[in-house]
Amino acid sequence: MDSLNEIVEEVVRRVQAQSHSFEVEASGRHVHLCRKDIDILFGEGYQLTKVKELSQPGQFVCKERITVAGPKGVFQNVVILGPERAESQVEVSMTDTRILGINAPVRESGKTEGTPGVVLMNGASVSNLKQGLIVAKRHIHMTPEHAQKNKVTNGQIVQVKVEGTRSLIFDDVVVRVSPKFATYMHIDYDEANACGLGKGTRGYIIL
Ligand SMILES: [Zn+2]
Repeated sequence: MDSLNEIVEEVVRRVQAQSHSFEVEASGRHVHLCRKDIDILFGEGYQLTKVKELSQPGQFVCKERITVAGPKGVFQNVVILGPERAESQVEVSMTDTRILGINAPVRESGKTEGTPGVVLMNGASVSNLKQGLIVAKRHIHMTPEHAQKNKVTNGQIVQVKVEGTRSLIFDDVVVRVSPKFATYMHIDYDEANACGLGKGTRGYIIL
């Protein structure tokens, strides 16, 4: 049986963890485009139109939408997130991969080496991506200050308890630390539904 001291320490640890909680946001399926694919799909030199800022500084929702097509299914009006990237990347949920009929792996954003391709369409313009379809690995964007408070470092894998109507502990969450980030956890819609995520739902690191 735990000594009283150990119980007190555990309670203090949990209270501290909760005091360092962060907001959890759900990311819907979306596309990041490189210059070459913007040229192919929207025309040479086309500039994407910003309509809404995202929680991460410098990231934004574009007015333009796109079609993502696989051998089994198609998603229309998929959101494009700016700014443009060095390489195009399509982020979907695991449910979406079944609908598309493409078996995409869970990956951190940007790590698209060896991932399957997918077809992007804007009207009659088509770009056949050779790779870049991923199910985004759940992650926390953290400022260096928040990382220090939570005693975690860039790339660390943690467990996060997400509060709410279907409170859930997520394992295998990667922490990403940068002064360019705002502290938010990102999960996809499968994961958001699994924990009954609502606006303002918060989570905290438990391990
Ligand atoms: Zn994110």
